Amino acid sequence: MNHLQEDLEIFLNQQKKEQTLRTLNPISNSKIIDFSTNDYLGLSKHPKLIATLQKETSKLGIGSTGSRLLSGDHKIFHQLEEEIAQFKQKEAGLILNSGYQANVGLIPALCSNDTTIFYDRLCHASLIDGILLSRSPSFRFKHNDLMHLETLLKKNRSKFKKACIITESIFSMDGDQALLKELVSLKKKYDCWMMVDEAHATGIYGKTGAGLIEELGLSNQIELILGTFSKALGSFGAYIATTQMIKKYLINTCRSFIYSTSLPLPIIAVNRESLKIIQQEPFRRSELLKNANFLRESLKKIGLTILGNSQIIPILIGDNQKTIDLSKKLLEKKFRIPPIRYPTVPKNTARLRISVSYLHSMKQLKNVIEQISKLTAKLE
Ligand SMILES: *Cc1c(COP(=O)(O)O)cnc(C)c1O
Repeated sequence: MNHLQEDLEIFLNQQKKEQTLRTLNPISNSKIIDFSTNDYLGLSKHPKLIATLQKETSKLGIGSTGSRLLSGDHKIFHQLEEEIAQFKQKEAGLILNSGYQANVGLIPALCSNDTTIFYDRLCHASLIDGILLSRSPSFRFKHNDLMHLETLLKKNRSKFKKACIITESIFSMDGDQALLKELVSLKKKYDCWMMVDEAHATGIYGKTGAGLIEELGLSNQIELILGTFSKALGSFGAYIATTQMIKKYLINTCRSFIYSTSLPLPIIAVNRESLKIIQQEPFRRSELLKNANFLRESLKKIGLTILGNSQIIPILIGDNQKTIDLSKKLLEKKFRIPPIRYPTVPKNTARLRISVSYLHSMKQLKNVIEQISKLTAKLE
C-alpha cells in the first residue's frame, strides 16, 4: 500500500470511529416510506412530466452537445429563462446545470477582493464553496442573528468598495426562515447588494409558488435570486433570476456556466412544464404545509426539540450514535429518516431530518409519529 492509500485508510477509520463515516445506500425497498426526499410536491413522478420527457426526447434527442456558448444553446433555454424571469418577477433568468454549479460559479464571477461578503453561518456548502473560490474577504454572522450581522457591517463595511449579503431563504438543515425583511433593511442601510438561495422555498412559499421572497414581496429589493429545479420541481438543474446586466455579465464570466455542457434539452422541456404545474396546482403546496404543520406540532407535543417552521422538520438529538441508532430503528419500521451529523451541521447538534412531502398520507404521518414517540421515549 502506498502512502496515499495509507493516509486515506487512517482518515476513513477515524470517520468510522467518530460515527461520521458516510456510505451510499441505494433506495431499493419500495415499501419504505421516504421522509428524506426533496421531492416535496411529488412532482418527480408527475404523469405530465414523464410524458413530456418521453415526447421531447423523441423529438430533441438527449445530449445538448456542448456549452451554451458553443453548440449547446437552443431556443428552449431562452423560453424557460423568460418564464423564470416572470415567475420570480425579475428582468432576466439564466439556467445553470445545478444549484451547486450555480453557486460555485456566480459568486466568484461577481465578487473579488474589492467585495466583502457577509453570510449566514448555516449557508449551504455550495454557497460556502463559492465564497471560498471567490477569494473575497468574508464575514460569517451567527445564524439569523441580525445584531451580529450589524456589528460586523459597522466594523468592516467601510473598508471595502463593494459588499454583499448572502443567505438561504429556507435553511436546508434547520428548516427555518431567514429574516429577509430585516436583512433587506440592513442591506440598504449599509449599501450592500444581496443574494438569496431559494432552493428549499421555490414551489412551496408565495402566492404563485415562487418562494419566500414572493411571499414577503421583496423581489425588487434583492439583486440575485437562486433556485433549483431539483427539489420541489422534481427535476434537475438550477437558475438565477436577476437583472439583464448581471445576466450578460455572468454569460461572460461565470466559469461553471461557460465551461460545462448545458443540460439535456428534454430536461429543459420538463422544467418548463414543472414550472407550469407549480402555478396550476397550488393545492400541492397548501396540502404539504398542512401536513408539515401537523407533524411538527405532534412531535412537539411528545416533548421533542423540533427546529424550524417549514416542510423540513429536524428533530434535535445531539449525540451522533443516538441519532444513527434512531434512524436505523426507524428504517426497520420502514421509515427512512436520515441522521444529519457534523460536518453538515455543527458538532453535538446531530439530528433526524424529516422532509415532508405532499404525497404522505395522514395515516403515514400518524404512523411515523407513533414510531418516533416509542423510540425516543427509550432515549436517555
Ligand atoms: C440543494 C441545494 C443546492 C444544490 O442544488 P443542486 O441542484 O442539488 O445542486 C444549493 N443550495 C441549497 C440551499 C440547497 O439546498
